[in-house]
This record gives sequence, structure tokens and C-alpha cells, in this order.
Amino acid sequence: MRIGGLVFTGLVGIIFSAALIIQGSVINNNKEIKKVPTTHKVVALTLDDGPHYNITPQILAVLREKKVKVTFFVLGKHAAAHPEIVAQEVADGHEVASHAYSHIFLSKLSKEEIGEELDNAERAITVVAPKPTLFRPPGGAYNDKVVAEAQTRGYTTILWSVDPGDWRGPSVSHIVDNVMNHVKPGSIVLLHDGQDPLPTPKAIGIIIDKLHEQGYSIITVSELLQYYEVHN
Ligand SMILES: [Zn+2]
Repeated sequence: MRIGGLVFTGLVGIIFSAALIIQGSVINNNKEIKKVPTTHKVVALTLDDGPHYNITPQILAVLREKKVKVTFFVLGKHAAAHPEIVAQEVADGHEVASHAYSHIFLSKLSKEEIGEELDNAERAITVVAPKPTLFRPPGGAYNDKVVAEAQTRGYTTILWSVDPGDWRGPSVSHIVDNVMNHVKPGSIVLLHDGQDPLPTPKAIGIIIDKLHEQGYSIITVSELLQYYEVHN
């Protein structure tokens, strides 16, 4: 249950003096988000660099079986190559977000070039998905200019707080242990689906089971932003 609901159940004075709950859309102006401060056991799983014709459908099958929704930060050029997979992500109820177009590191580009990367990705994504509201810079390479260009286009810049390095191809157990050792309420977990082979399709199912065993709810990043708590 969210604190927003409690406000109307008789705890108004206590809750309002202890914490001010702000909607995600309000808090993010010109600021990148690595995790969401919250006392609730909610986390977001995110997948970068896809869609990949072989890896992404495997991950989608696991997510369907586990009934879990995640956020895909799709690469524009991969979305252009495999729009049917992005369409499947949407059909399955996942959130589709932008990872820019070509995976060039945006921090070294001009304002205009950054804008092109964002706009080209948006054009590819919106053929089959709603206009994304979240953006993750490739390689986590960002500066004020990158965040501002994203903000101008209606994107909140999302980073991560848990990074098991799945793209390097470690063992499944390494990925699972790394995530479970670092996860906290409000964590944003970074995983990948843009290359083959990847241990991620196997790891993600185990991660989901263990998170559920520990009482976590797995939600999309946009949903997670609604849990943002600012404590006075
Ligand atoms: Zn990436």
C-alpha cells in the first residue's frame, strides 16, 4: 500500500509532518534519478540495449511466466530493426523507454547532436510504442547538457543503483548474488538484452523469484517514481 492512500485514513497529521509525498512527475525536473527514496519494498528491473531478436523474446517469455513488468530502455537503431519485438513488449504491458539511437556516448556531443540521437530514437520507438517519458544515457555518460536536452523533450533521465555487469557475461549465480546483495527498497536494477550470448534470460527468472521471496514488488520505473518520498 502506498503512503498516499494512508493520508486519507486518519493519519493525516502524522504522515504530513513526517514525510511529504510528491508525484514522480514533479520531482524530476533537470535531475537524473539513480534510485527512489522509499520505505516500501518496491524495485524496478530495467533492460538496456535491446531489442535483440534472440535474447529479448527469451526474457519476455520469462517475464510472462512470472507475471512481472519491467522497463526496457531500447536502443533506437535496434527498435528500428525489430519493431515487432518492441510491439510485443508493449502488448505484454512492459514500459518502453529510450536509450537514444546509436549508443554513442552523448556527453561528448553538441546540443544539436544530442537532440538528434533522442529524436531519431523517439521516431523509431513511436512507430510501435507510446512516446517514452524515460531516457537512459548510453554507458551512463551524461552531463547537464544531456539531461537538459532530454528534459526539453519530456524525458526524465534514469540511471541505476544496482549493476551486476551482466553484459560482461559472468555466471548466472554471480548476477543473482550481486543483485540480491545490493538491492534495497527503491532500487533500479540494470540488466541488458542487446547482445547474444547473455546469462540474463536465466538470471532474471531467479532474481524475480528471490525478490518475491523477500517480499519485494517488481514494478516499472514510472511506477517506482510514484513512490518517491521526501522526508523533512
Ligand atoms: Zn547501453
